[in-house]
Order: sequence, then C-alpha cells, then structure tokens
Amino acid sequence: MSASRRRIVYPGSFDPITYGHVDVVARALQLFDEVVLAIAVDSTKKPLFTIEERQAFAEKALATHGAKVRIVVFHGLLVEFVQEQNARAILRGLRAVSDFEFEFQMALMNRKLADSIETLFLMPRGAYTYLSSTIIKEIGRLGGDVSAFVPPVVQEAMRQKFHGVKP
Ligand code: ADP
Repeated sequence: MSASRRRIVYPGSFDPITYGHVDVVARALQLFDEVVLAIAVDSTKKPLFTIEERQAFAEKALATHGAKVRIVVFHGLLVEFVQEQNARAILRGLRAVSDFEFEFQMALMNRKLADSIETLFLMPRGAYTYLSSTIIKEIGRLGGDVSAFVPPVVQEAMRQKFHGVKP
C-alpha cells in the first residue's frame, strides 16, 4: 500500500476539540496508519480559542495515539493541503441528518476541485452524536458540567475563559 493511502486528513475548527472528535480519530486509526488533524485558520467562524490553544488541546487529547496522529494548522484550500500532505482522503464526522446536506455539498465541491481525493464519513458512538463544539461552549458559558464531553484540559480552559477561574 502506498504511503498516501494510509494517511487521512481530518479538517475542522476544533474550537474546542470534544470527545466526539476524539472518537472519530480513534475509529479512523482502525483503518488508516496516520490521521492528520488539520485545524483550519481561514474558517469564517469566529473562534473562542486561539489556534495555539486549539492545537494544544488537541495535542493533549490525542497524546495516547503517539505518532499516529499529527496536529497541524492549515491555511487556504483544503484539497491543496491534502495533496501537500501526500494524502488522498478527507475525514469528516457525521452526527445526524442535519450534518448531511452541508457535508454532501462540501464533499462534492472538493471532488470537483480535486477528483482523486475522496471524503470519508465516520459516525461517532451514540453518546456523542448530539455533541458539538458550539453546544459545549454554550454549556460552559452557563457554568454547566461538560466533563463527559471534553477532555480535562478543555474543561479547565473554558472555566478560565468564561468564569476567570485559574486551573
Ligand atoms: P467545522 O468547523 O469544519 O464544522 P468542527 O471542528 O465543528 O469543524 O468539526 C470537524 C468535523 O468533526 C466535522 O466533520 C464535524 O461534523 C465532525 N464532528 C464534530 N463533532 C462531532 C461529534 N460529536 N461526533 C462526530 N463528528 C463530529
């Protein structure tokens, strides 16, 4: 198998990383040798955490996988980044039907831009299907318990960001 077939790029905002993302990465590693978790800089979304913070959370959350997971920041067009990484596949998570339309459109647009790159979708375990970074930030802002959904490092950072509590 060529090197490119064994590597998949998982792009997103990861603002912040949740156990849903972590679960998708673990599943992908059953199929691929390496997952490149790619944090998009050019997203139109206004992030809560800086790129450096998001990168640090992801490093910590995925540390158990060692060299099989690489966390990188990317600018510009995803398909170009995927080609630069010598990969041929893009990984996305699918939670509910509501994800489908946007993901379908994006996957087909990426195919139009680069026909040789495939998008693969993995579903997280049931308990994480209703989990999104947006909802986590909302619960965190309101002081709710997010310990079942995000790694401790993210929990602490949100406590500090929203409520000024030092870890
Ligand atoms: P984006 O800003 O590109 O939507 P996100 O950081 O929100 O990126 O998510 C990155 C990818 O992970 C997307 O494909 C998203 O659908 C998926 N994802 C997010 N949360 C979950 C979850 N709880 N379970 C499975 N996949 C998820």
